[in-house]
Amino acid sequence: MDQGIRIEGLSKRYGEGDTAVEALKEVNMSIAPGEVVGLVGPSGSGKTTLLKCLGAVIEPTRGRMTLGGEVIYDSDAGGWKTRDLRALRRDRIGFIFQAPYLIPFLDVTDNVALLPMLAGRANGASRARALELLQALDVAHRARAQPSELSGGEQQRVSIARALANQPPVILADEPTAPLDSERALAVVRILNQMASQYQTAIIVVTHDEKIIPTFKRIYHIRDGKTVEEAGEGRDIS
Ligand code: ADP
Ligand code: MG
Repeated sequence: MDQGIRIEGLSKRYGEGDTAVEALKEVNMSIAPGEVVGLVGPSGSGKTTLLKCLGAVIEPTRGRMTLGGEVIYDSDAGGWKTRDLRALRRDRIGFIFQAPYLIPFLDVTDNVALLPMLAGRANGASRARALELLQALDVAHRARAQPSELSGGEQQRVSIARALANQPPVILADEPTAPLDSERALAVVRILNQMASQYQTAIIVVTHDEKIIPTFKRIYHIRDGKTVEEAGEGRDIS
């Protein structure tokens, strides 16, 4: 599989010598376009480190990472394949966090349109793209509202629209349902699955939320920096 996400032999060591921490130990993962995969593990197991490496926020110690068919990092071939890591993060990766982190002084449309604008797309085309996503996520009726006027669930849907705005091949979600009740948590997972198949995005969801774990078809368990793949229940939530 060339598209989607591919991680090969990924290792990350923090620090040197006696105090070094081996946070990731030769991790292998692959997520196909259109697939939503869970990454589950206890606190300190390496989940955030893995997302930060994939998101080009920190540099791995060894290994290889491919996003959307392009090698972005290869320790055997000089490390990062691009010098502009900011553009890589902005254009090729969508991030969803536990909190929506919307910009309070921009309306809903511009919160979503901002990233395409920063990537150099015309304002009109960026806003049209934003509206299309807001429609897909069922919040288009709130397009002119300020973030503070939205419910928590609406804010999280807007943050999902924002993550999709530059049509990244990859979305990294860190505990996206932790603060939500069962119904809203499942709604978020349903949306992520719909968006993955509609836009052929590969999505990794870091979670220990028992409400959503049964929905994954495939799960990677991580413990002490090592991942083990397992079939999930793949419970139908459509
Ligand atoms: P998780 O997100 O699963 O809780 P992390 O990826 O944050 O785990 O951490 C994995 C391991 O790496 C832990 O032992 C943690 O203490 C260590 N660690 C994380 N960040 C740093 C850092 N900046 N410097 C040193 N050790 C770190
Ligand atoms: Mg963490």
